[in-house]
Amino acid sequence: MPRKVRTPWVIPEGTPPSKCRGCGAEIYFVPYTRRVDKKIGRMPCNPDGTPHWSTCPESHQFRKGREAV
Ligand SMILES: [Zn+2]
Repeated sequence: MPRKVRTPWVIPEGTPPSKCRGCGAEIYFVPYTRRVDKKIGRMPCNPDGTPHWSTCPESHQFRKGREAV
């Protein structure tokens, strides 16, 4: 997984908080358009806008199921 995180994600107002299935941290699913197929994906982000998989101690769980949430 890439470790460098350049731009924090912007969490839209009104996005309901969720819990990480791996570590239980509070996260937000930020909708975005996937470049590969133009479908709408949802990126799990920390409250500060960084992708949660970059900080989650259980991030290995996301590798196979990042689009399946
Ligand atoms: Zn987590």
